[in-house]
Amino acid sequence: MPVVLKEFRVSTRGFTDIIDVTDKVRAALSESGIKSGLATVCVAGSTAGISTIEYESGVVRDLKDAIERIAPSNIPYNHDMRWGDGNGFSHVRAALVGSSFCVPFDSGHLVLGTWQQIVLLDFDNRPRDRRVFVQIVGE
Ligand code: ZN
Repeated sequence: MPVVLKEFRVSTRGFTDIIDVTDKVRAALSESGIKSGLATVCVAGSTAGISTIEYESGVVRDLKDAIERIAPSNIPYNHDMRWGDGNGFSHVRAALVGSSFCVPFDSGHLVLGTWQQIVLLDFDNRPRDRRVFVQIVGE
């Protein structure tokens, strides 16, 4: 069974920057030539996540606010005391969201809802250039 690994890069502003990467995943799928199977979208790094939302400014704002309530940026973190890089909240947020999202596809189309997009969330406390991988398994 064919397995293809594709990669794309995304420049982010950090600080829970939420970016729609659905079209980039679709492009990777199309380039792979595989028609039906499973795609895993994965970001490299311990301060970013991959998830799915309805990518609309209200939901994006609501998600950012919820993340701020769950893992606030203005409280002490042990990581910052040890390393001093100030991104303890970024690591915790990334762990809670998870670094990958798995989506089936059939006849070349991702199995997603009409109002469902795949998003990269960058939680770091500075701009980053992220490497996102799409591993496509199918036939
Ligand atoms: Zn760190």
